[in-house]
Amino acid sequence: KETEVQLDYQFKILLIGDSGVGKTSIMNRFTENKFNVEIKSTIGVEYSKKTMVIDQAVIQASIWDTAGQERFRSLAKNYYKGAIGALLVFDVTRPHTLENIQKIWLQEVEQHASKNIKMILIGNKSDLTVERIVKQEEAVNFSKTNNLAYMETSALNNQNIDQAFETLVREIYSEI
Ligand code: GDP
Ligand code: MG
Repeated sequence: KETEVQLDYQFKILLIGDSGVGKTSIMNRFTENKFNVEIKSTIGVEYSKKTMVIDQAVIQASIWDTAGQERFRSLAKNYYKGAIGALLVFDVTRPHTLENIQKIWLQEVEQHASKNIKMILIGNKSDLTVERIVKQEEAVNFSKTNNLAYMETSALNNQNIDQAFETLVREIYSEI
């Protein structure tokens, strides 16, 4: 018989950003520590859970993935309901995915999410050093302008994935 762990908190965390930036890969890496080169788009789980311990508090993060909806440049209102944190993800090899954080996704969040949702800007695919176009400095400037923390990740190499979620969860936890 398995011991049941008493959860202190449940946090709903969203993955937001253009199609192909690596949202599903980030979720899979974080919750199952795996990376699939071929991901079936559209069909998939809506969320995946992971239990984290932060300063002795047992926190279950439910990570929500858009499952293809992002192609319509708009997500169902339900997606945002109850969300307390979000990773805003762009792809460092495709500058327009960073532009769309501003043009589309920040506005979507403002319109549909809770006013005090915590967010971190994520530049994913940091392993692609040759193909990379968005400079770190550019992303840092963008994040400062928009009052966001910035981190670079690679779901492929498992770089900074745990740290990104932990940073976000700690920030949420520090305010409850
Ligand atoms: P989503 O549409 O935002 O969910 O993006 P996916 O997770 O489906 O990833 C889109 C493509 O980028 C897939 O071919 C992934 O294998 C690839 N990908 C995702 N993350 C990384 C990464 O960190 N590095 C590299 N090189 N490729 C990645
Ligand atoms: Mg996906």
